[in-house]
Amino acid sequence: MPLKVKVDWNLCIADGVCYALCPQVFEAGPDGKSQIVKEYRGSDVTEGVVPDNLSDCVEQAKTACPVGAISVEKA
Ligand code: SF4
Repeated sequence: MPLKVKVDWNLCIADGVCYALCPQVFEAGPDGKSQIVKEYRGSDVTEGVVPDNLSDCVEQAKTACPVGAISVEKA
């Protein structure tokens, strides 16, 4: 099942942990805050729908984010 992934820019401190761990899904936005890569992005750069085979990668990034800015739910 695909996953809906969201980054909360109110919480993100732009430390780059998620896009270092999971560059297939996350990348640096203009100010270093995390955004979803173009391939999976929705209308907003902070959210997107990611295929199931990347769920481990997404979960790893979510767990490692020091401020809990990444949320994941089934799409
Ligand atoms: S790990 Fe969390 S705080 Fe760091 S860039 Fe990613 S979303 Fe932002």
